[in-house]
Amino acid sequence: MTGAGSWSLVIADGVQLGRPIFEFFTPVMEVIFYSLAAISTLVFALGIFLKVRKYWRGKHEMRFDHLPRRIARSVRLVAQNATVAKRDRYAGTMHFMIMWGFITLFLGTVILALDYDLIRPINPNWQFYRGDFYSIYKLVLDTLGSVFLVGLIAMMVRRFSFRLPQLNYKRVDRPVGSYDRRPYKVGDIIFIGSLVLLGLTGFLLEASRIAHDQPITMVWSPVGSLVSKLYLWAGLTPPQLVITHTTLWWIHVTLALTFVAYIPFSKAVHILADFVNITLRDEKAGIALPPIPEEPAPAHPGYREIGDFTWKHLLDLDACTKCGRCHVACPAQATGAPLSPRDLILDLRDHADERLSFKAWLSQRTLPIAASEDGAMINHQVVAGGVIKPETLWACTTCRACVEACPVGIEHVPIIVEMRRSLVDAGEMEPKLQEALTNLSKYGNSFGVSDRLRAKWTKSLPFTIKDARKEPVEYLWFVGDHASYDQRLQEITRQVALVFQRAGVDFGILYEGERNAGNDVRRVGEEGLFQLLAEQNMKSLGKATFRTIVTTDPHSLNALRNEYGQLGGSYEVIHYTELLCRLIESGQLRFDRPLGYHVTYHDPCYLGRYNRVFDAPRDILKALGVQVTEMGRCRENSFCCGAGGGRIWMTETNTQERPSVNRIREAIALGNAKYFVVACPKDVIMYQDAVKTAGYEGQMVVKDIIELTYEALEAQAAVSVGDARTDTATQV
Ligand code: SF4
Ligand code: SF4
Repeated sequence: MTGAGSWSLVIADGVQLGRPIFEFFTPVMEVIFYSLAAISTLVFALGIFLKVRKYWRGKHEMRFDHLPRRIARSVRLVAQNATVAKRDRYAGTMHFMIMWGFITLFLGTVILALDYDLIRPINPNWQFYRGDFYSIYKLVLDTLGSVFLVGLIAMMVRRFSFRLPQLNYKRVDRPVGSYDRRPYKVGDIIFIGSLVLLGLTGFLLEASRIAHDQPITMVWSPVGSLVSKLYLWAGLTPPQLVITHTTLWWIHVTLALTFVAYIPFSKAVHILADFVNITLRDEKAGIALPPIPEEPAPAHPGYREIGDFTWKHLLDLDACTKCGRCHVACPAQATGAPLSPRDLILDLRDHADERLSFKAWLSQRTLPIAASEDGAMINHQVVAGGVIKPETLWACTTCRACVEACPVGIEHVPIIVEMRRSLVDAGEMEPKLQEALTNLSKYGNSFGVSDRLRAKWTKSLPFTIKDARKEPVEYLWFVGDHASYDQRLQEITRQVALVFQRAGVDFGILYEGERNAGNDVRRVGEEGLFQLLAEQNMKSLGKATFRTIVTTDPHSLNALRNEYGQLGGSYEVIHYTELLCRLIESGQLRFDRPLGYHVTYHDPCYLGRYNRVFDAPRDILKALGVQVTEMGRCRENSFCCGAGGGRIWMTETNTQERPSVNRIREAIALGNAKYFVVACPKDVIMYQDAVKTAGYEGQMVVKDIIELTYEALEAQAAVSVGDARTDTATQV
């Protein structure tokens, strides 16, 4: 066999145990290869430099705390592919195969380069690319290379044939024809197509060498050996096989080097960006929003321009793989509002690239003020209200379904709230919202009612609730605005008090000392008002003596539990369903007779996704003896009622149907649920309204868990009274 100067077939005891490197190559060809490799590496490095430079221009944000723990967690998550497989087994399995195939093939190339370019020039006797190592290396690469190809082909079929809604790039905020999605589609084809070609040419290349050399080690390359039969079957002669091998080698190597150079400038960058993004993500993204920094004080609050973004949120934009999971999870998108979290991220990414990255670096140009499709002049340098329209930002319910669904740790909710902060600062909000905020600032509630009337609902109770500011209590009940002021809810609020009293709970309230907890005020983007409300509440809480705060309102629960700590207020805060569970466990609450209803339970976003309280409501329902049929979208995958993030104070913008109606239809479709059970005052209002407007009265009744609890206790009490009367009558 003839070969170039670099020929290095390993012979041991007359048996081939390795393979030649640069087989059939001249030294000139080797020089060309190394030159191309150097160019490819330089372009890759330039791309990474431009990316880092872009992030460098973002605002400072500390994300390197607990770094070893962060890295260990993301290595585990990424190695298992857990975030990709979480909601889509098919995509998860295929991605797992592609990722591990790619990593193995990449490591295989690195091992070969180490042996050939580093070890052998130092001392040829140290080379390890031979013998048993070589055999196992071949088997592993052959196997994982096939896994890689199968995964890619299955993923291609999924992307291009299944017509999945998450992979449809149609926009919800613009008419078809007013935007161009071809660059995304072409990018997808180039990305996945180049990987498939890399895999295929790799196997064809290996097979041509096997067909020519017929090495004894071919048993360690089962797939390559099988493919080599094609050449033999086609009757290629040894010289033809040499030409085929050399041609394929150049095609494969050119593809590989082009792919390396293309990584930082394409979707392929997620190979690098996603690991970093998952490592540095905020586990409480959206749950505890960041305050506006005091030092150095920003020129304006929130994200007005792309330069206001933190470096981490700029990285978020690059991490997006366009998988569309957030798009289909979003209640705003699903019900016709002009918001898709995927499109929002992609629009911001395009803009960031225009302003801060490659194109800007090349042209250093100032982007013009341009006309939007409705004729209004918009300043494309302004992000909040310009690149991203105000109606898109106001459509968000901050339900966090997007953050939960995103496999790469993108933080949509904080990004949206930061842009809302900018809109609020500029006074760009609808009058109804403005009025609610004015009421909140004047009266401490959005109803615009005097704080002296906050506890009016207690008047018709058969007992007086303790004022926690005047006497110590074990549980301080933070009632919340809607439960206190909304007349549709006051009977339910009284039932909470009656259940607590019957269970012997030592509890009190703050009376007029309570204010709106500020959770939704903060998510609207009115950070100053949030802080004011929180400080007023903390002042009242400071006057009270209690062990635990219990609240009926999941929104208040979130602010009190996760955000007041930023202002110095750290409390143990639980939801009333968690307290009921404790009471059931301790025997303070007992239900002797099952209610026997068929119900479905809706997880409120701020109780479930935000605070992971999934089991307590279900445990209560079980204790009450009702049969729960779960809706398809339940627990962390629950569907928002549409009231969160301040949407309850805004005009309905959805053009198709309201999220609450969409949800009621899902419950109706179960066929057997009599009650739609909730654990949030806002949900009661939203869903009662939805049942009425969608014409489902008589088919579905909305109930808070406390209503069922109260009903069970009442039924029990009635039976006890009946039994007592019977006993007395018998004695008489
Ligand atoms: S938080 Fe909810 S409403 Fe807002 S973008 Fe995400 S999924 Fe959509
Ligand atoms: S933001 Fe996340 S979930 Fe949404 S398309 Fe991008 S990667 Fe997918």
